[in-house]
Amino acid sequence: MKVVGASASYLYLVPMDGRYWFELFTRRGSRRDFLRVGASAVGLVALGGQTGCATGRRVRVVSNPFTLGVASGDPTPDGIVLWSRLSSTALREIGAHVEPVEVRWELAEDDAFSRIVRAGDAAALPELGHSVHVEIDGLRPGREYFYRFFSGGEASPMGRAKTAPRLDARPDRFDFAFVSCQHYEHGYYTALRHLASESLDVVVHLGDYIYEGAALDGDVRRHEGREPIDLEGYRRRYTTYRSDGDLQRAHAAAPWLVTFDDHEVDNNWAGDVPEDGQPTQEFLLRRAAAFQAYYEFMPLRASSMPSGPGMQIYRRLRFGDLLEMNLLDTRQYRSDQPCDAVVGPTCAEHMADGQTILGAPQRTWLEDGFAASTARWNVLAQQVLMARFRNVDGDGRETWSMDKWDGYPRERTSLLAAMADSGVSNPVVLTGDIHSSWVTRLLRDFDDERSQVVGTEFVGTSLTSGRNGRPMTPWGEAALRNNPHVDFYDARRGYVHCSATPGRWTSRYRVVPYVDRAGAPVETIATYVVDDGRPGAERV
Ligand code: FE
Ligand code: CA
Repeated sequence: MKVVGASASYLYLVPMDGRYWFELFTRRGSRRDFLRVGASAVGLVALGGQTGCATGRRVRVVSNPFTLGVASGDPTPDGIVLWSRLSSTALREIGAHVEPVEVRWELAEDDAFSRIVRAGDAAALPELGHSVHVEIDGLRPGREYFYRFFSGGEASPMGRAKTAPRLDARPDRFDFAFVSCQHYEHGYYTALRHLASESLDVVVHLGDYIYEGAALDGDVRRHEGREPIDLEGYRRRYTTYRSDGDLQRAHAAAPWLVTFDDHEVDNNWAGDVPEDGQPTQEFLLRRAAAFQAYYEFMPLRASSMPSGPGMQIYRRLRFGDLLEMNLLDTRQYRSDQPCDAVVGPTCAEHMADGQTILGAPQRTWLEDGFAASTARWNVLAQQVLMARFRNVDGDGRETWSMDKWDGYPRERTSLLAAMADSGVSNPVVLTGDIHSSWVTRLLRDFDDERSQVVGTEFVGTSLTSGRNGRPMTPWGEAALRNNPHVDFYDARRGYVHCSATPGRWTSRYRVVPYVDRAGAPVETIATYVVDDGRPGAERV
């Protein structure tokens, strides 16, 4: 069974080898259900068009179904994906939660929708949680658009999208923000509210969009239920997060480029190895459920639609000749963290052949990209700290964080060598995960602090994870003391605003003083620049 999108390619792929998995997640029905879905998809292919036919039941709702907001993502010079999702509560009220529901979408050149350039109908399918992913092409490059959805007689909020510049364009600047780690229970998304008022080309999310742990009492606010292990559990968790107004504002403000880290599935998972040691098959079922929910809630293209426990999330986007963005996946293909420790001394496994954080195909794809790129700034948007972080424990032993690139030092060394030898222009690594802000110089040889600076790493702090932040921590002091290539550390909450111009990259660390209540102001606590051709950031 293979179904692919037609011209209005909001469709889903069901690859041949994905049949088993697709059936698995429609198993409350039966194989007949699968065939019915397949048949309706074929029907969509046959009937589908940009402005065409009804593709689901037209319903009337009693409450607005757009409680999860809207989003756009993955812009190209002529296209964008638009996202929304109908509230299962609103559909349940009218008994429509088990069938395809029609959703109308509109894309306009102005926010009053007086110049609508595209419109059409999409089917929100129960198999995909009544999400819609509308892929539009044929748009004008480097242009702002506005979009909204209608269903059941109700309208969604409006979103702002923007296409990428032409591939041969020479933009004079590109502005974006990157974020990570938004534990719902740890605080309010005030930083995202501030981010939403910046004028951005894109927002990059580096993972930990949800946290999978069970709800805890006594925190700032509460996410629901037990630790999710199945599709329903993950859907509930995303619904809680996605109901936040500030998160919705940030999604509506600009297209997002998303990639996941560990907490979208399970803390510190690695490849097919879970945190808590359940059998591999059981974990892969869980991973498939987590990936499906992630896809359902994110503005991703059909090319990232999961097939069972696999999901193509690493990808490359280009913004004229100015910037190329490589979004990486450092979870799905990695070897298990070595040495049976989260933080610990080295062991034989640590330096063994074949230990990998990227996996061979992604590594080849990335290095081929270095060789082929003609962009001025080449960004690796990824999850875990790439620079070496040498720490010394109470017994005077060197210790390493095995979940970060420090757990895979041979691959780091060879990747940084490949980066340097390829001559790729201005590599910049963006990192999340560690709930603190860092600036590092990526060295060809971390044993020699005077060795070649290959690239610059900007680590963004968490939006909320870790609760209220503070400027310095014992960990930060150790990072600065033991690692001369680390230039900056701060552990307040916030995001990083980046501006790339042909001559200079600027990163502004934007933080809020508290997250345990709403309404915090935002301030820039540090600004670092990288000049074209000179890796390593300078504070200005
Ligand atoms: Fe995190
Ligand atoms: Ca993480």
